[in-house]
Order: sequence, then structure tokens, then C-alpha cells
Amino acid sequence: MTDDGWRERLRAWLTENEPPAEAHTDVAAARDYQVRLYEAGYAGLTWPAEWGGQGLGAAESVAFAEESASYDMPGRPFLIGMGMVGPTIVDLGSDEQRRRYLTPLLRGEEIWCQLFSEPGAGSDVAGLSTRAVRDGDGWRLTGQKVWTSNAQWADHAAVLARTSPDKPKHAGLTMFVLDMDQPGVTVRPLVDMTGNAPFNEVFLDDAWVPGDEVLGEVDGGWHAARTMLGHERVSISGLRQRRGRGVTSAALTETARRYGTADDPAVRDELAALYASERALELYNVLLNQETAAGSPPGARGSVGKLAGALLAYRGVHAAGVVAGAGALVHEEDDVDGGGLELGMTSAPASSIAGGTNEIQRNIIAERVLGLPREPTVEARRAARSDR
Ligand SMILES: Cc1cc2nc3c(=O)[nH]c(=O)nc-3n(C[C@H](O)[C@H](O)[C@H](O)COP(=O)(O)OP(=O)(O)OC[C@H]3O[C@@H](n4cnc5c(N)ncnc54)[C@H](O)[C@@H]3O)c2cc1C
Repeated sequence: MTDDGWRERLRAWLTENEPPAEAHTDVAAARDYQVRLYEAGYAGLTWPAEWGGQGLGAAESVAFAEESASYDMPGRPFLIGMGMVGPTIVDLGSDEQRRRYLTPLLRGEEIWCQLFSEPGAGSDVAGLSTRAVRDGDGWRLTGQKVWTSNAQWADHAAVLARTSPDKPKHAGLTMFVLDMDQPGVTVRPLVDMTGNAPFNEVFLDDAWVPGDEVLGEVDGGWHAARTMLGHERVSISGLRQRRGRGVTSAALTETARRYGTADDPAVRDELAALYASERALELYNVLLNQETAAGSPPGARGSVGKLAGALLAYRGVHAAGVVAGAGALVHEEDDVDGGGLELGMTSAPASSIAGGTNEIQRNIIAERVLGLPREPTVEARRAARSDR
């Protein structure tokens, strides 16, 4: 339960402070809206008050998610910072890092990206080859990252690099905080099938990191990465309602009315089943957020929500086909609703890859939630073959 009147005050604030449409296309407008949220006390709800958060509990976090669900909140530029890097800094950062980074992040003044994936290391991110070499009282980083969301706006990155190439791959990594605005960092956009460029390639060429900008321990990067990936799965799991846009049950119900298919029993069945799956995931996310806010993060169980969100995206795509037929993909250029539907359809596949693929989530659930035997590593398979 929230304290008396908290939800009502939030509801009134949202009514008076509806997010402006341009906050979805203009990052400066998104930053302005984020400052307003922060100053009204609605950013970092469950983060500790001493580091700029509100120090509230899961009840307020759930109330915020419910009350803001009917608004198109412009959170995309802040997704990585708020959902992944910020909580990791709360968990593993030094007090100096918490003081320096968390409040500007919550105020939308500084945007973050996550530099993990590389051309040769995605699912097996511990196999990455970006090198960090000591240089005086800091580090020089060289390598290539790829699929980096929000790097086009980012002020800082959480970057994973190899510090000890002689150690086993998981034991030789370190996570750093990198200033993106320096000569050694080059960002190039990558266009996906929606026609937008939500992610980038990032080239590091002797990029500089001061010695006190290690996040966690030197050679403790795998622990830091797992901490961040845990937060990532929970935050992505809660994204579906916003990301699914054109292919949610609510949007598709409107589409069915427009197409005159709302009375078709097959359409009604499809929409009801989609709604039920959305509601089940929403409630599961409430549970994950309650556990996190209570100081007991769900760990590998976050993968259940992440996987369910990706499967739900496909279910939405299927429902769009039933509701609108070919109209789900083909529309007149000036048809705004048709455009929303197309965006929902073409962006759905990304949800089965971003934040770890469906296959990887299934492996995690099998091994770490259900306790099934571990999948043999490539090295173990090779050894077994050579024994034959
Ligand atoms: C929209 C989007 C945003 C992203 N944003 C970021 C970001 O901000 N920062 C970042 O660092 N990365 C980001 N990524 C990258 C993402 O994390 C990787 O794409 C993902 O981890 C998969 O890696 P990969 O593309 O190299 O595929 P691979 O790892 O090469 O996988 C290829 C295929 O093999 C399967 N596979 C691999 N290993 C196994 C296994 N052990 N068992 C079963 N199947 C397996 C995979 O499931 C997949 O189907 C983003 C990706 C997308 C789509």
C-alpha cells in the first residue's frame, strides 16, 4: 500500500504534466520532461534517498507503473541508465561514483549506454576482445563494440573490457565508466528493419579511463556484468507495454474497430488471449519489482519475464495479422495508425535478441531456475570428442 494520497497526488500531477509528443523525437524535450519528473519526486522511486532517489518501496513503484501506463512516457534515452547502469552503480559503485553519477542520471542530464556486445562476442559476452591496458594512473581501451543502444546521445558508458588476457576468460574482465566525449571514441549509427537507427557501432581507439573509474573490482568485471544483466532483464521484462505499441491488445482493439473486424469471433479470441498474456506478465513484473525493492533481486528468475516479454511480442504480431490481415504491414504513407502497426510488427523481433536471446534465457531458466544439468561448454565438447 502506498501512503495516504501518494497515488492520488501522482495521478493529479500526470494529468497536469502530460508528456509532450515531441519528447519522443527530440532528446532535449525528453530531458526537460525527465527534470520535471525528478523535481516532482517521481524519478528513482526505489533508489536510496542518500544517492538522489526517493527511498520509496515497491508499492509506489507499482502505482507509478500503473498510473503512467496510459501516458506515452518518453523514457527511451534514459532506459539504459535508469534500468541497468544506475542500479549497478547503487550495488557496486564507490560512494564517489554514486555521488557523481546517480543524480544527473535521474535528472536526465546525463545519458548512458552499455558497451558489452562485440562483433565476436554477443551471447558469449565473456569472450570479448576489447583490451584495457594500464597507462599511468588510468587505462587505455581499444576495441570495437556493436549494437550499442543510445550511444548516439550518451555522455557515459559502462564498458566491459579484458584486463588480464592470461587468465580464464571470465576472470580477466573489468567494467569501467567511460566518458563518451573524447577523441578515442567514434560512434556510427546502425539502421534496423524499422528504418530507424536505435543502436550503433562504437570504436574505441586508446580511449582514456581514469584509474578510479573501475566499476566494482579490477578483474571482477564478470560479477559486475552479471549484476547489470540481472537488472537489465527485469527492466526489459517491464518494457513490453511501451515497446509493443501498435501490437498490444489495447492498440489492436482500436485497429479491429477501424478494420470492422471487432465482431469476428476469431479476432475476439485472439485479443482476449493477448490481453490475458499481457496481464500475466504485468503481474509477474510487479512481483519482480517488489522483490527488487525489498532488497532481494530475483536473479535468474528475471529471465522468465524477459523471455515472456519476447514471446508476447510475437503473440502481438500474430494477433495483428488476424485483426488486420495484410493491412498489418501495408498502408498508405499518411496513415498514422497503419504506421504504428507496422512499427510494432517490425520492431518485435528485436525483443527476442536484445538483453540476451530467447535461447540464452531458456538456458538460464533451465540451469539456474529449474536446476537442470548445465549445457556442456564448447571446450568440454571438444575434450569429449578427442577422448573418443
Ligand atoms: C535492439 C537491440 C539492442 C541492443 N542493445 C545493446 C546494447 O545497448 N549494448 C550491448 O552491449 N548489446 C546490445 N545488443 C546486443 C545483444 O545483447 C546481442 O545481440 C545478443 O546478446 C546476441 O548476441 P549476438 O547478436 O552476437 O548473437 P550470437 O551470440 O552470435 O547468437 C546467434 C544465435 O545463436 C544462438 N546461441 C548462441 N549461443 C547459444 C547457446 N549457448 N545455446 C543456444 N543457442 C545459442 C543465439 O540464441 C542466436 O540465435 C542489442 C541487441 C538488439 C537486438
